[in-house]
Amino acid sequence: MKKDILSLELNELCSDLENIGEKKFRGKQIYEWLHTKRIHNFEDMSNLSSALRTKLSEIYCINRINVVRTLESSIDNTVKYLYELSDGNHIESVMMEYKHGNSLCISTQVGCKMGCNFCASTIAGFKRHLTVSEMLLQVYEAEKNSGKHIDSIVLMGIGEPLDNFDNVIKFLKILSFEIGKNLSLRHVSLSTCGLVDKIYELAEYKFGLTLSISLHATTDEKRNEIMPVNKRHNIAELLQACKDYIEKTGRRISFEYAVIHGVNDTHEDATRLIKLLKKLNCHINLIPVNEIKERNYRSDKNALLSFQSILIKGGLNATIRRTLGADIDAACGQLRREYEL
Ligand code: SAH
Repeated sequence: MKKDILSLELNELCSDLENIGEKKFRGKQIYEWLHTKRIHNFEDMSNLSSALRTKLSEIYCINRINVVRTLESSIDNTVKYLYELSDGNHIESVMMEYKHGNSLCISTQVGCKMGCNFCASTIAGFKRHLTVSEMLLQVYEAEKNSGKHIDSIVLMGIGEPLDNFDNVIKFLKILSFEIGKNLSLRHVSLSTCGLVDKIYELAEYKFGLTLSISLHATTDEKRNEIMPVNKRHNIAELLQACKDYIEKTGRRISFEYAVIHGVNDTHEDATRLIKLLKKLNCHINLIPVNEIKERNYRSDKNALLSFQSILIKGGLNATIRRTLGADIDAACGQLRREYEL
């Protein structure tokens, strides 16, 4: 099988080339074609000899992902892309426009094994991890299709990024490398349902990214019920890992809390949340739960506002996430579900 060239870091490409008797600087030229000029066809790499281009095409493939549907919101400028991967699987990315620039939400896996019971991405189960190139191509294709520059990236689409740890780390390295997209990891957020061992591992990289933790409940009993991952790593273990992460990286953590009426939005929940998070350097993002057809969860505006005000009075930094792309079901996982049914 041919090697996936878009998933290689520059040093890997250079040493491959040396192994086949080429000069190392060729690696840099090819890398620039792929990641800066984004030419994904060896034939068009005009500063390489035709013999080298032929040799490259024998060893490597240049991966592709194809847009099969584009949904544009008529409320805001949110655009959702449904991509077909080279093996026929589907994933989604969502492009959102904010005051500070364009943000792209990308997928990290085809499906998800985590089983959070309010989430559309996990209902049909897990198929496979995304490769490094499939994550990068979501960024490159979105820029090409929209003609817009992407200023920030969130790993909050389909999948659990820390469950695809090695590929995600490599993706982040290539994304922030000076040749190519060259995006500071300060402009990247990574969201996890709480794979504690991987949070400790991630801390060691000391990336500048924002770590988001999907908390969504304030007792183990409730969290076990809506997020099965909690049976593996409970709230206390998760918060201990967060504390370690903040100490090691010096970065504030962001907690996600999908507010579900009658499930996790009582006065007691708010009080417990204050107790849990008061001592952490963090921010709380309240998300009105996105209704999916498989569950009858819903959010209640008044309950949400009073939940927020209790948190603020308790000294927490809590904001309500703006809902973008409501008319195109912009929450990840929903389009793929419809398409594959
Ligand atoms: N697996 C990662 C990232 C993907 S989900 C994680 O769990 O963090 C991105 C965010 O959307 C998570 O906070 C997730 O819990 C939340 N989410 C999923 N389904 C939702 C829904 N129906 N309503 C509101 N938020 C949801």
